[in-house]
Amino acid sequence: MTILVTGGAGFIGSNFVMDWLAQSDEPVVNLDKLTYAGNLENLASLQGDARHIFVQGDIGDRELVARLLAEHGVRAVLNFAAESHVDRSIEGPGAFIQTNIVGTFNLLESVRAYWGGLDEAARAAFRFLHVSTDEVYGSLEKDAPAFNELNRYEPNSPYSASKAASDHLVRAYHHTYGLPVLTTNCSNNYGPFHFPEKLIPLVIKNALEGKPLPIYGDGQQIRDWLYVTDHCSAIRRVLESGKLGETYNVGGCNEKANIDVVRTLCAILDEQRPRADGQSYATQMTFVKDRPGHDRRYAIDAGKLERELGWRPAETFETGIRKTVLWYLENGAWVNNVSSGAYREWVERQYTK
Ligand code: NAD
Repeated sequence: MTILVTGGAGFIGSNFVMDWLAQSDEPVVNLDKLTYAGNLENLASLQGDARHIFVQGDIGDRELVARLLAEHGVRAVLNFAAESHVDRSIEGPGAFIQTNIVGTFNLLESVRAYWGGLDEAARAAFRFLHVSTDEVYGSLEKDAPAFNELNRYEPNSPYSASKAASDHLVRAYHHTYGLPVLTTNCSNNYGPFHFPEKLIPLVIKNALEGKPLPIYGDGQQIRDWLYVTDHCSAIRRVLESGKLGETYNVGGCNEKANIDVVRTLCAILDEQRPRADGQSYATQMTFVKDRPGHDRRYAIDAGKLERELGWRPAETFETGIRKTVLWYLENGAWVNNVSSGAYREWVERQYTK
């Protein structure tokens, strides 16, 4: 038995692969295109481990995917591969349409052909798990109840629209062809190996480098945060016990305004790595122009996953954010290595306007 993970060199995918192999000997074929967000250094701890088979390639390459599925006798596909950064989707939506929509379509076609050729028992046991986001639901009013699985899709950015489209394709492959699919819609993740263009790692990196800590608009945008290994455990639980064709919301009940997240990071850094001049890192906070169409609030109701599949997160925001800061303090070399010239150029364009 083998699973195929796509996008397993990215932030969540690499955490998932490591978590999976820490708990099971079932091999993982890891298919990743290695875009700017994919990094084999995330998986350095698996070097020489025969259970991890890395293949560089595109989820849209039907021939390659067909070969991997057949060669390894794959029993489940977990699709993490995506273009994932909202700001990049605003600047250039094309890659998001290509990977998140066309790529997912091609992947589904390869999987459908393979699945159709399996014997009855293997067909029944097979799973296609699609990893998606709460951003497909759009923005929540201040006092509205958190998103559950019955909320309407109202994506507002090219990123969330492309993910919404991929969710619909996955759903349609179940209803039309009977493909055994599962979809998870998760809130914002944070933790080790998070690429430093996203809020939490960016703030830690900039703080330590003495640079401004960018706060979009008034900083009151609310996000619901989940520690990445809790997302991994939820995916594993849905894969094992989820009901076919269903979607499961995943979240940590940790709604925080962006500005409060930044203040918390500054407080932990002040304690762990005080600035030489004795000032708080919070003095580096700098308000920048808000992103167009910026959703005000996301909050996820993970009640279905908790009630039906008995999943609970292991970390609170307080324990998870502390672990995260300590990881970044101990892994400065990783941060420097992933911060290539191309990345630096992108960040400078975004935050020095
Ligand atoms: P990421 O950008 O860190 O990683 C994406 C990975 O996919 C990279 O390794 C990249 O090289 C790979 N990839 C991109 N295009 C590819 C293609 N065409 N073929 C093969 N590989 C390709 O993203 P992430 O934050 O780890 O997110 C993983 C998944 O989880 C995404 O589908 C995202 O929508 C979803 N998600 C993310 C969050 C979050 O907070 N980060 C929350 C909920 C859901």
